[in-house]
Amino acid sequence: CGIVGYIGKRDAYPIILNGLKRLEYRGYDSAGIALFDGNDIQLCKTKGKVANLEEKAEKEISLKGNLGIGHTRWATHGVPNDVNSHPHYSNSGDLVLIHNGIIENYGSLKKELIKRGYTFKSETDTEVLVNLIEDIQKNEDVKLGKAVQIALNQVVGAYAIALFDKKKPDEIVVAKLGSPLAIGVGDDEFFVASDASPFIEFTNNAIYLEDEEMAIIRLGRDVKVRKIKDDKLV
Ligand code: GLU
Repeated sequence: CGIVGYIGKRDAYPIILNGLKRLEYRGYDSAGIALFDGNDIQLCKTKGKVANLEEKAEKEISLKGNLGIGHTRWATHGVPNDVNSHPHYSNSGDLVLIHNGIIENYGSLKKELIKRGYTFKSETDTEVLVNLIEDIQKNEDVKLGKAVQIALNQVVGAYAIALFDKKKPDEIVVAKLGSPLAIGVGDDEFFVASDASPFIEFTNNAIYLEDEEMAIIRLGRDVKVRKIKDDKLV
């Protein structure tokens, strides 16, 4: 039920962990984090409190990295357990995504993806979305932002999402319909969160996405905000 992300020059882990703590008031049953360590994705997730995540992450993963996303989950599809917690990988392991909300047509999308050879580890609607994005990225040979846009035009539901591609670790893509999503803009660093509380101490320059908007957040660039339903993009 809470989303936090960071890309810039600071260590992402403390920003994301403290951000998740500030979003605890929204209610949740599990928590997780994915960091890009310069080489690969370090992922840790668990049923229970953000404090449990902290304990587990400090034991199990490298906490280095200047890019990452974190999530607190309020389960809607699939019981609260470690596997169903977010972030979720795509099948290739390149994409990692967090999601608040519900993908209502996940059943039919999942059937189609299974026909195309995709496998699923969790029972969530979210894992369907990350694989749909990967499938589009591969088949249509488009950039991540465009693949997200095409995917969201096939989705019925409500969402705030954030994701990145480990092959392009200078970028986070976010989108919103129904659930809140704010972007904090610093000095060549960017924050993403369900509300401004995780980044208020770093910047007072915030962009609040409207419903049916997405944003491509890339280091060295201005944030690109686009309508999900626009034909052109990115
Ligand atoms: N529908 C997703 C799930 O059950 C996201 C729930 C949420 O908003 O945290 O995993």
